[in-house]
Amino acid sequence: MPINLQHDNLEIALKKLKAKENTFELLESINKLGSWEVDLNTHLTIWSKQSYLNYGYEPFSIEPSLELFLSHIVPEDLKKTKEALNQIITTGAVDTYQCKARDKSGKIIDILMHGQVIYDEENKPCKVIGTTQDITELINLKQQKSELLQLIEYSSNEIYIVDINNYNYLYVNEGACKALGYSKAELLNMSIYDINPDLSKETVANLRKKLIFTKHLINRTIHRRKDGSSYYAQAYIHLITYKNSDAYVIFDTDISETIERETLLEEKSEQLLHLAHHDHLTGLPNRTLFKDRLSQAIIASKRHEKEFALLFIDLDKFKTINDSLGHNVGDKVLVEASSRLKRCVRDEDTIARLGGDEFTIILQGVKNIHDISNISQKIVNEMREPVIVKEHSLYISASIGISLFPKDASSSDELIKYADTAMYKAKEEGRDNYQYYASQMTAYAFEKVVMDTSLRIAIKEEQFVVYYQPQIDVKTEKIIGMEALVRWRHPTLGLVPPGKFIPLAEESGLIIDIDKQVRRDAMKQFALWYKEGLNPGKLSVNLAMKQLNEKDFLIQLSNIMEELGFNSDWLELEVTEGQVMNNPELSIEKLKTIHAKGIDLAIDDFGTGYSSLSYLKKLPLTKLKIDQSFVRDIPQDEDDVAITKAIIALGKSLKLKLIAEGVEEESQKQFLIENGCDFIQGYLYSKPIEADEMTQMLKASENGFHS
Ligand code: C2E
Ligand code: CA
Ligand code: CA
Repeated sequence: MPINLQHDNLEIALKKLKAKENTFELLESINKLGSWEVDLNTHLTIWSKQSYLNYGYEPFSIEPSLELFLSHIVPEDLKKTKEALNQIITTGAVDTYQCKARDKSGKIIDILMHGQVIYDEENKPCKVIGTTQDITELINLKQQKSELLQLIEYSSNEIYIVDINNYNYLYVNEGACKALGYSKAELLNMSIYDINPDLSKETVANLRKKLIFTKHLINRTIHRRKDGSSYYAQAYIHLITYKNSDAYVIFDTDISETIERETLLEEKSEQLLHLAHHDHLTGLPNRTLFKDRLSQAIIASKRHEKEFALLFIDLDKFKTINDSLGHNVGDKVLVEASSRLKRCVRDEDTIARLGGDEFTIILQGVKNIHDISNISQKIVNEMREPVIVKEHSLYISASIGISLFPKDASSSDELIKYADTAMYKAKEEGRDNYQYYASQMTAYAFEKVVMDTSLRIAIKEEQFVVYYQPQIDVKTEKIIGMEALVRWRHPTLGLVPPGKFIPLAEESGLIIDIDKQVRRDAMKQFALWYKEGLNPGKLSVNLAMKQLNEKDFLIQLSNIMEELGFNSDWLELEVTEGQVMNNPELSIEKLKTIHAKGIDLAIDDFGTGYSSLSYLKKLPLTKLKIDQSFVRDIPQDEDDVAITKAIIALGKSLKLKLIAEGVEEESQKQFLIENGCDFIQGYLYSKPIEADEMTQMLKASENGFHS
């Protein structure tokens, strides 16, 4: 059925056509692209639906014409438009033309036209077809973009776009050029490092890392201008896409003024803070700051388990001076007093003025009571010196009260209270002195200071005498040696036993000079005895380990021996167990060098310290001295018996000789002999005696010693 078939095909073709038309319409509408044609002979004009819509008409509601079209063109563009149309017709070329028009409602629209001439069989132009597109939005967008670009370009901010890979500038605005003094071309040849001299690669790497997460951040840098000057800049950095690649845009603002303001403010507030915390007259910390420092000292001392002292100082005659000579003089005195205080302490110590003539000092880092007393005495001495103000020589003097943390108190209020109490004690004691809160401390400190001074005099004037106590071989009853024991012949106190001054001398280091004198005297005496044909055996001298720290100890010793004609194998040094075990490794090393010189070594007071067998084995020893505390109660006390036996056994196993000290009773001697002790030293044979007496004893005992 061909007819039917034909009919069917037509229907399909129509449908297809319709579909195409719909698609065209849709495309036209999307692009706001209207199409038109004008018959050049009949002037018949056809507009597409979108053409109507572009000019604000209901589609097909009006007869289109060239005149209708031209009536929409704005007057300024009318001439141009006619010319353009003419040109299309005469040249026949495909052309585009853009102009402004008004739609039916009067709204300005931008239109873009394309036109083309169609020719008839005789090659005469018969038709013009074309499109008119409403490009208002596009134009607006372009307009906006260029406006924005101008905004960016002429913004007073510095704006940079930076290559994310090498940090070179891809774009810089006018503001940046102005701020830095470089031309655009110069800057585009530079990288961020060229204008941010303090920017390190490390900082940049860190910023970069942060930016990955935050996308933008703020950073402060210093910018260097072309002329070398610089300013603070605050950068706002943002990760963007620029020309299809990742880039950073940086908005920089000169914040030099802000910084200046900030610094000024900081300085101002620091000044204020200083004013609030310092005494304006002396510049010293005031009560508020002092209390703060005191609390800090307490915290620090607790943490480091250290002690510190609080000194409360009151000027003795200030009130009278102030009342009689006036405030001006008074102020000068206070300023002078504060600078004297400063001279007496270290920079780290806090000196404060609580008000009036009251000062406080927090003494940290003092090693012992000796130091505190020394500093306090120094302040007392300094304050005794007259203060010269104009024609006046003023005598002020100071009373000082001292409290100790944590000995006296552990809270600031109590420490202050006690130091204040002690200060009143100093006033009661006649002013011009210092007192500790705990009175026994004052006595102790006093004794120490006096002792220290007198000991120095004693050394200078050689007030020391050496006593000798014999050491006896229990088998032969013969003197095998003697211990040199020092006594201090004090011009007024008489003979002072070593227990009264040796510990102090050890603390202050004066022991070194004392022992030097003792050794020299004793060695001289021994050389003399040997020269006289007597046999005093070995000389035992006590050695404070401190002396071994003296660099030339051994050289000095050798020199004296040579000078006096003293044989090195006549000498034995006694070191206490406690001192050796304080630092066993070092002791072993030092004692070995002594032993190498042929000098014997004995461990004194053995049993009172905590020797480890492994160290004992390494020490170059010849003798162990059993401490008198074990000897005293043998053979009655079971514990002492056991200990003494154990010490003897230990000594034997180490192949050392054993000597017991403090032997007073025959029963003690018997016990020691029975248990294998080699030598004995004690009142049973003799107390320590002077050289002359010892000479007699040596002579008498040539045939054996009888207790
Ligand atoms: P040390 O080295 O343990 O001296 C033994 C002490 O025991 C001596 O006391 C001595 O007099 C005393 N003594 C001896 N036999 C007996 C006794 O049978 N009974 C009693 N109760 N005591 C006895 P001294 O002389 O008072 O010396 C005391 C300490 O002073 C010495 O103890 C020694 O550590 C130290 N010392 C003495 N002279 C010097 C010296 O020149 N230099 C040094 N660095 N220290 C010395
Ligand atoms: Ca001794
Ligand atoms: Ca001893």
